[in-house]
Amino acid sequence: MSDCLFCKIAAGEIPCDKVYEDDDVLAFHDIRPIAPVHFLVIPKQHVASLSDCGPEHEAMLGRLLAHVPKLAREQGLAAGFKTGINTGRAGGQEVFHLHIHVFGHKA
Ligand code: ADP
Repeated sequence: MSDCLFCKIAAGEIPCDKVYEDDDVLAFHDIRPIAPVHFLVIPKQHVASLSDCGPEHEAMLGRLLAHVPKLAREQGLAAGFKTGINTGRAGGQEVFHLHIHVFGHKA
């Protein structure tokens, strides 16, 4: 989507502090971290919210989540970390491009 911030980041039009990238997935550090380590994992494909996902998104959702443990370990969160998906305005979502927050303290 042309007016989506995270689509622009995924397309390389807006810079990010990259953690990981492949053809389908991008991870980057959150610009306003709420913990010493805080990064986001997003699909490159535009999906606005977890509310918009159904069975057809199973593979994409699985891919996103499956990257989290390895990336968390690489960022120093081997002892544990928190994840979150804010969904909808009432769920605290501000950027309407699906993303998983991963955050925690280095051990
Ligand atoms: P919330 O701000 O309530 O956490 P979201 O779950 O929609 O809402 O999270 C959006 C996240 O995107 C925020 O943590 C915000 O700091 C982050 N963010 C916004 N713009 C950028 C950017 N250009 N680069 C990296 N992270 C960003």
